[in-house]
Amino acid sequence: MDHLNIITIDGPAGAGKSTVSKELAKRLGYTYLDTGAMYRAVAWAARHKGVDVRDQKSLSELCNDLKLGFNGDRILVNGQDVSSFIRTPEMDGLSSAVSRVAVVREYLTGMQRELGRGGQLVAEGRDMGTVVFPQAVKFFLTASAGERAKRRKMQMENQGEEVEYEEILAQIEARDLADSTRSIAPLQAAPDCIVIDSSDLTVEDVLEKIVTEM
Ligand code: C5P
Repeated sequence: MDHLNIITIDGPAGAGKSTVSKELAKRLGYTYLDTGAMYRAVAWAARHKGVDVRDQKSLSELCNDLKLGFNGDRILVNGQDVSSFIRTPEMDGLSSAVSRVAVVREYLTGMQRELGRGGQLVAEGRDMGTVVFPQAVKFFLTASAGERAKRRKMQMENQGEEVEYEEILAQIEARDLADSTRSIAPLQAAPDCIVIDSSDLTVEDVLEKIVTEM
């Protein structure tokens, strides 16, 4: 394994990255870094301040004033715990929109590298292996869009939300398309990553594969 002991897990929405990354970090005694939560927190801050997510200049000012922090697995914006506000369909779309903007990516990429300086990190996102930590041991976790929509529907139902499968599938496909076709740091598998398709695998199967390949 790489001398800094950084493991990256990238992939599309709903492939199981969070569950797998959290559990892997726990087993290895590493820090878990949820970079999607960072994009979501910026989106939340923009919404909170009434900043248009297409307005680069205002987003740049927003990032300059922003103090993002973690407290365990809670994410804080200027000291306020926003964890329970960032996982809504609105924030799914807004986070994907702010993630296209260069100043936002520069700001978060810098922070992520800083957080990874000490190593012993499991970092999940879209560009962890391709851009942020190219020296890491890289995994790309994917699953069919249908399977990912099915899992997301189940997850939402467990939270008491009724949603149409077709609607979730359409949202997942739209976000994947936006994330993989943007000009900066698009969602893609790094040439030297290990691709795992989790469509027919349990969380335990995926973890086993990762540990074997590390
Ligand atoms: O992983 P999650 O669904 O929480 O990510 C929310 C959004 O943040 C993604 O759809 C993507 O647009 C953006 N993102 C990104 N780069 C990352 C992590 C997330 O662009 N490393």
